[in-house]
Amino acid sequence: MSFEELNLISPIREALKKEGYTTPTEIQRQAIPPLLEGKDLLGCAQTGTGKTAAFAIPILQNLCKEQRDRKGSKNIKALILTPTRELALQVGESFTAYGRNLGLRNGVIFGGVSQKHQTDILMKGIDILIATPGRLLDLMNQKYIDLSHIKYFVLDEADRMLDMGLVADVKRIISHLPGVRQTMLFSATMPKEISKLVDSILTDPVRVAVTPISSTVDIIEQSVFFVGKKHKKHLLLHLLKDKSIASALVFSRTRYGADKIVKDLIKAGIKVQAIHGSKSQAARQQALNNFKAKKTRVLVATDIAARGIDVDELSHVINFDLPNMPETYVHRIGRTGRAGLGGVALSFCDEDEKPYLKDIQKLIAKIIPVVEGHPYPLNRMDVEEKKGTTKNTTKNTTKNTMNNTHNAKDNRSSKTI
Ligand code: AMP
Repeated sequence: MSFEELNLISPIREALKKEGYTTPTEIQRQAIPPLLEGKDLLGCAQTGTGKTAAFAIPILQNLCKEQRDRKGSKNIKALILTPTRELALQVGESFTAYGRNLGLRNGVIFGGVSQKHQTDILMKGIDILIATPGRLLDLMNQKYIDLSHIKYFVLDEADRMLDMGLVADVKRIISHLPGVRQTMLFSATMPKEISKLVDSILTDPVRVAVTPISSTVDIIEQSVFFVGKKHKKHLLLHLLKDKSIASALVFSRTRYGADKIVKDLIKAGIKVQAIHGSKSQAARQQALNNFKAKKTRVLVATDIAARGIDVDELSHVINFDLPNMPETYVHRIGRTGRAGLGGVALSFCDEDEKPYLKDIQKLIAKIIPVVEGHPYPLNRMDVEEKKGTTKNTTKNTTKNTMNNTHNAKDNRSSKTI
């Protein structure tokens, strides 16, 4: 199927050609026709599937058609809510790219930066607003934003909103939207809380599910290294000696951990930067641009900051820490293997993280191959240290901890669809 067959207007087709898109992706094929007809949509898809264009193209086309009837209107007609600033910027770039021939205006707002530039844009008038929830509420309270003319509403990465504790904000924003509107909700997973939201905000939605969570990961070559916590940095340096790792996105569970990894890599002469919530927006954007431009070889990120990172040709994802939510593992490794290309995901697993590994393998329904024979294997000393046991009891310790699933379910409210 081609974009022509999707009945897109020629200015949009031209813009897509300029982007180098020749054929629609699966989610675009499935979502664009019902969205052009004005239907609500529930999209189960993650980044890398082309979901942004799947909702941006029909919004642009419908807005373009309506534009003629209300020339000069300064009202915001489409709202896209995203969990992070990076994703908001990326969605904004997509609207600009696909709508380059349409004369529609979009604006991106997010927290952590001065609001001046954003309010200036709002005052001039925009058709499409891309926003993170906190700054949006803030500017709504200051009366810079009126949502009463919204006709198109997208809630992007709804499950991530939940992970970030943003659902209450999202609900408050929704309460300000007109009742008659077209709503699109995208989520890679469907925790209970999000299912409830789906039922309350979507009307008879078309359901589109692409690349089910487990099959996305199939094209990515995954492996796990059992390693002692204090040897993880040595293992990382050892792996990065391999020059075939052209670019690597390294995940750390904490900001502190991310900074520590950066220090260790710099000491070893590796070009690296970090991206996490304690960094200013400018520093995060700069780190991302340097990584995209291949000025840095390694980008160290925490999960929240990494949301929305879109890097073409990312060869490796390295999980320095395993996440305690198995869905996060899928989000992380989905950074590589984009648009159907293969990728490599390497995960470090220490004694404490074995329960997380077990949960991940259950979710993706496969056993991740273990790399044997690397220089820093998890040894009896590491296990003993963790357990505080004596040598006499060590024999049983490994066996017991292998079966131990304690605390892996902590803070877990989500399940996969
Ligand atoms: P997304 O899932 O929206 O984050 O998109 C993932 C990547 O796929 C982005 O780099 C898009 O530019 C790219 N993309 C989206 N649609 C297409 C298409 N039809 N053909 C080629 N690349 C695409």
